Amino acid sequence: MSEYQAPLKDMQFLLHEVFQVENFWSQTPKLAELIDKETADAILEEGAKLTSQVIAPLNRNSDEQGAVWQEGAVTTPDGFAKAYQLYCDGGWGALSGDPEFGGMGMPKMLQSAFEEMTQSSSISFALYPMLTAGAALALSSHASVEMKQTYLEKMYSGEWAGTMCLTEPHAGSDLGIMTSKAEDDGEGSYKISGTKIFITGGEQDLTDNIIHLVLAKIPGAPAGPRGISMFVVPKFLINEDGSLASRNLVTCGSIEHKMGIKGSATCVMNFDGATGYLVGEQNKGLNYMFTMMNYERLGMGIQGTGAAEVSYQQAAAYAKDRLQGRSAGGAKSPDKKADAIIVHPDVRKMLLTMRSLNEAGRCFSTYVAKQLDIAKFSDEAESRAQADQLVALLTPVAKAFMTDMAFDSCALGQMVFGGHGYVREWGQEQLVRDVRIAQIYEGTNGIQALDLLGRKVVANKGLFLESYLKEITAFTNLHVQTPQLSAFIEPLIIAVDKLKQLSTHLLTKCQSDKHLVGASATDYLAVFGYVSYGYMWAMMAEKSYDKADNEFYLAKLQVGDFYMKRLLTRIDSHSQSIFAGSDSLMAMDETLF
Ligand SMILES: Cc1cc2nc3c(=O)[nH]c(=O)nc-3n(C[C@H](O)[C@H](O)[C@H](O)COP(=O)(O)OP(=O)(O)OC[C@H]3O[C@@H](n4cnc5c(N)ncnc54)[C@H](O)[C@@H]3O)c2cc1C
Repeated sequence: MSEYQAPLKDMQFLLHEVFQVENFWSQTPKLAELIDKETADAILEEGAKLTSQVIAPLNRNSDEQGAVWQEGAVTTPDGFAKAYQLYCDGGWGALSGDPEFGGMGMPKMLQSAFEEMTQSSSISFALYPMLTAGAALALSSHASVEMKQTYLEKMYSGEWAGTMCLTEPHAGSDLGIMTSKAEDDGEGSYKISGTKIFITGGEQDLTDNIIHLVLAKIPGAPAGPRGISMFVVPKFLINEDGSLASRNLVTCGSIEHKMGIKGSATCVMNFDGATGYLVGEQNKGLNYMFTMMNYERLGMGIQGTGAAEVSYQQAAAYAKDRLQGRSAGGAKSPDKKADAIIVHPDVRKMLLTMRSLNEAGRCFSTYVAKQLDIAKFSDEAESRAQADQLVALLTPVAKAFMTDMAFDSCALGQMVFGGHGYVREWGQEQLVRDVRIAQIYEGTNGIQALDLLGRKVVANKGLFLESYLKEITAFTNLHVQTPQLSAFIEPLIIAVDKLKQLSTHLLTKCQSDKHLVGASATDYLAVFGYVSYGYMWAMMAEKSYDKADNEFYLAKLQVGDFYMKRLLTRIDSHSQSIFAGSDSLMAMDETLF
């Protein structure tokens, strides 16, 4: 099995050439003193060492051994605790944290590159610090100063972890019907009761304390999602001086036995009158949780790319090594019994599909991270508002399209290995099992598609979409006269036009057909994703076409050319499904299923 190599050069290409982050960083007062090219590159290089040398070697055993539950305690796989300590010692948990409370305040564009490396090295491991970072972000955005003082520094340092407790046995996609209860105890806190399931890192042996962010309903609150509040429920209560007090009434009843990510503890958490503290205002919990969920949703997309990158690296190495059959164009290695399978067009198609999706995915997550940075750090209110809209529009695409493409990529990587991809030895089957969950949790990809089409496009009559497409059109207008880019710009113009037509069709028809949004959402998200990846490839090509004598840039142009010719065209079949309407989905009576 080949080792994981962090794709540093690719990440640096995106940061420094495609997105030219130094301009933004140096012109943004909140970032100018914190970060420059040298610092960013040094951070990425250190991140690459930690992830490839310390974390990646643990991944295989974490799958074999898994997290183990015994009498309420969870033991993480061998090596996790030591690696986690190194992660904390390196200050990685503080990377993008609020500097007022011990964070480093680094931009998301940089952090997302490091996140990808962590996910590549081990999804199971990466989930522990990822949930903490998301919980800390929700607290830093919505909690009182006192709460931030109590929790943030220790969460950034990694001494304490964070979780996200939403799901209940009967309430997953529909959180409005949750029954966990929070009763005011008259002492400035609440008594939280209920059972949460599937809680990632709900219990573990890596940290001294676990800070659960729990959604629950205060008696008398409005029904549905508007009656949900958010509470901080620490595993150990905390004394005024910050030291740990007694154990709170929250316990881990069991952990799930899963298809993949076996080193990540997925816990049933029982809250039996546990002491919890209200975050912000009553009944705004779901809105607050969206801060965390949006962070995690981009993180899920990055998780997908991380896994698919490893799958590609291993599959490409294997395809150059494995000898089977002869090239249709005549033997490539006549001295050997057979040619390497990379000579076969179908194997090349699998590898190029993986690579073109992975590189576009990485570019897309960097692009979304850039919008998050503008929304957070820019001095200009208009830029912040514009970036906020783009984040809202693109987050469901980042979560769902990136993970759908990543799963497909990992399945292709497995196929490159033939039967050897199906057996344990090469690691490919673990990648397929591990990455599958990214399509399911943090809101299934079906729910993401409904969010995109229903809430982000139809509900605002295409307003956010219009400004995104305007940006792409400004880019194509600028380069339409550049002949070296015609293979990118021309298909992109056509694809954008098709997305516009589809959107207009749906906006018009969804009033008369109430099932149309639900019937079209996943196909619409796919079209949106393919068009966005086309835009990413056009941007990457624009920074490569005059450097084609260098093999790095030549490969960019060739992989991008493959994408524009063979994958962007997939939008046509998705469009046809959408134009078919909802009838064929809704016609059959339930009893016939
Ligand atoms: C390994 C793992 C880790 C997890 N970690 C966490 C965690 O840390 N914290 C946490 O709170 N939760 C966590 N979850 C829960 C996860 O987020 C949910 O499982 C997920 O959101 C789906 O909810 P559900 O399982 O109840 O499925 P359901 O909501 O029952 O959905 C079943 C199917 O119906 C579809 N569906 C549901 N409603 C609609 C609708 N209105 N329109 C169209 N289709 C619909 C869904 O897309 C899905 O295909 C985790 C789950 C797993 C498996």
